[in-house]
Amino acid sequence: MPIVPVPLFDFVMFGGTGDLARRKLVPALFHRFRDGQMLPGSRVLGAAREPLTSAGYREWARSALEREAAGEPELLERFLDAFEFIRIDLNGETGWSELAHWRAQRPDHVPVFYLAVSPQLFGAACEKLAAAGLNTVDSRVVVEKPLGHDLESANAINGVLARCFGEEQTFRIDHYLGKETVQNLIALRFGNSLFEPLWNADHIDHVQITVAEQLGLEGRQRYYEGAGAMRDMVQNHLLQLLCFVAMEPPSVLKPNAVRDEKVQVLRALKPLLGEDVRHHTVRGQYRAGVHGTEAVPGYADETGNPDSQTDTFVALRAEIANWRWAGVPFYLRTGKRLAGRASEIVVQFKPVRHSVFDPAIGVPPPNRLVIRLQPDEGMKLAVMIKEPGPGGLRLRRTYLDMSFAVEYAGKRFPDAYERLLMDIVRGEQTLFMRRDEVEAAWQWVDPILNAWQASGEAPRPYAAGSWGPSAAVALIERDGRTWFEDAEQMR
Ligand code: NAP
Repeated sequence: MPIVPVPLFDFVMFGGTGDLARRKLVPALFHRFRDGQMLPGSRVLGAAREPLTSAGYREWARSALEREAAGEPELLERFLDAFEFIRIDLNGETGWSELAHWRAQRPDHVPVFYLAVSPQLFGAACEKLAAAGLNTVDSRVVVEKPLGHDLESANAINGVLARCFGEEQTFRIDHYLGKETVQNLIALRFGNSLFEPLWNADHIDHVQITVAEQLGLEGRQRYYEGAGAMRDMVQNHLLQLLCFVAMEPPSVLKPNAVRDEKVQVLRALKPLLGEDVRHHTVRGQYRAGVHGTEAVPGYADETGNPDSQTDTFVALRAEIANWRWAGVPFYLRTGKRLAGRASEIVVQFKPVRHSVFDPAIGVPPPNRLVIRLQPDEGMKLAVMIKEPGPGGLRLRRTYLDMSFAVEYAGKRFPDAYERLLMDIVRGEQTLFMRRDEVEAAWQWVDPILNAWQASGEAPRPYAAGSWGPSAAVALIERDGRTWFEDAEQMR
């Protein structure tokens, strides 16, 4: 398929020298430039307080692209031509008139203002942009999670954004939604007649959503200590994935049609209150352990706060109170310093109603759809087949493998940001969170956080390199089910 270029744009990165810009935004733009989707003539402006020149900024961008652009010096030079820098203090007056002047040089370019800065600076950034007359109707403002630490603070951030930009101009990024597999989930559910008739409580036993990290804090102690796994992962990534699994088919694949359905799912989540929180949630914090062959410290040592109550692990059992999903548990689990790195959704179907096989074979294990977001994106459907060869009819589980790495052998897999950045320029909102979604997610999460705090109980300890506290195993085993854990089982 030929790549359709996006209109010429001006991409302004506040926080243009930060970690997000270096690791994600600049490489994503580079790949879109290489593929011809970002046209020569589009401009990238870094903005930060550091006194850099445009030439200095190009050197900074060059070092950020060392790996991505290896062996392509000419392409890299052409890409770097797009880069400029203006020193701007979001809390001060420096740089704003230069920015307005820079923008006025290319009034026909789509202006994108990416706020790759701490959320405390969102308000100042929006107000300064408005005061400089830069919040024109064609402009877009982009913010990253975390959007607040509870409903109230999320409302405050959304309020600030709404004072200066319309909702259709506001792009709230959850980069999980830019992953090919999430979009493939839409294709799988709504582009095939096979799954949708089975996609309900009559045929699905339960759903598991796991986002497991092996890494610890990676230098982000300060941020994480104020957030924890519930705010950092569950409130956004895991609930967004749950929405894509559970939503009703939208009438059209248009941003508001999709997001209307997602918000209905969030609103239908059964509130977890009081004793439910004790029974249906587990929070943990890692202790010292082993990562690979290397001994790693516990969370409290890493943060230097022996009294920390921050959750680095959460497991919970959610239910969606609607006709389609009544009685189907959704088990969500995420944590740092776990035994494996895997983000996956497992849809476990019900077993066959009646086994026609020899009683010695028993009831065949149920079908299972595994949708893997990382490390290697793809989908696998577990089906039962006859064990080949003579000796009677024996059943064996095998997987219909829809692994993208196999399907698209030799092709580069685009990072989620590449898709999302181009969608922003195109003004395509489907894969971004709408204000009411963010608020509905906090509405469900807040009472759990409050109950944890009120309980005064410390997070349960787990050893780094394990799969979390044993209580998380008990949470699902109480229901007669088990976590789907071993990547080998999927093969
Ligand atoms: P970071 O590495 O700390 O970078 C912060 C950037 O903001 C720097 O360029 C800094 O440059 C600039 N800055 C700070 N104060 C400023 C001010 N008053 N005026 C203008 N610029 C200012 O942060 P980050 O990790 O890139 O994260 C940026 C945002 O993305 C945060 O909201 C974070 O939560 C979110 N996020 C990051 C990641 C990630 O992978 N890094 C992932 C998800 C979400 P100067 O100090 O020179 O001004």
